[in-house]
Amino acid sequence: MVENQNIKLRDIDNIFYVKLNHESKIATKNLVPGIKAYKEKTITITNIEYRIWDPFRSKLAAAILKKLELIPIKKKSSVLYLGASTGTTVSHISDIVGTDGEIFAVEHSSRVARELVNRVAIHRSNIIPIVEDARMPQNYFGIYKKIDVIYVDIAQQNQTEIAINNCKMYLKDGGYLLLVIKARSINVSKKYKEITEMEIKKLKCFSIIQKIDLYPYDKDHFIILAKFLPHS
Ligand code: SAM
Repeated sequence: MVENQNIKLRDIDNIFYVKLNHESKIATKNLVPGIKAYKEKTITITNIEYRIWDPFRSKLAAAILKKLELIPIKKKSSVLYLGASTGTTVSHISDIVGTDGEIFAVEHSSRVARELVNRVAIHRSNIIPIVEDARMPQNYFGIYKKIDVIYVDIAQQNQTEIAINNCKMYLKDGGYLLLVIKARSINVSKKYKEITEMEIKKLKCFSIIQKIDLYPYDKDHFIILAKFLPHS
């Protein structure tokens, strides 16, 4: 932990830009001070603990650093997260949405989900772990309302179709999809930019706001931000 009065903070939608030794880093305010979700660095400024958000470990952090123009996840948002894994990104979203927001965190591997629960969700009451296959959204328990944002980060060949099916079932009209396109999971022989364009064409009931190449944080990955407009 570092105590440093010279750190500059800029608060945008509960995401903080921490200037430390001339290097700008993003961070979130720890909802559960003293408890880490992974081996992230923490900084305490005037008794508030911030968790440094590593863009090499989280594609959402990478997208923000690569100028994601609209961050749809805010204080009080409800988020359906597909591919929660052990909760690295989920934990930062939990900091952002705060105690009045919630994250339904879907992970199909029970071994991985156990780590998500034991390391992260147990300490954070706004995370609702769902051990299910994202290909079967009708099986989720506990989702009782339409959701503001769906975030998809799963290595499946038909990841875009899975994202669309989840949006049709749970996303609010006018809600946002953040879709990580993992080109290598879709097709190993085509160029990743070409694959991304093919996947974007499938998002017919969405308005595409932005597509971001996550290089150098992730190779062969794009993230798409799209608004759900099912009736247009
Ligand atoms: N988004 C995570 C983060 O930033 O912390 C990393 C996600 S990891 C790349 C992908 C995760 O998706 C894995 O934990 C995998 O088990 C899960 N996954 C893959 N296919 C899935 C499916 N059909 N349903 C639910 N989870 C799935």
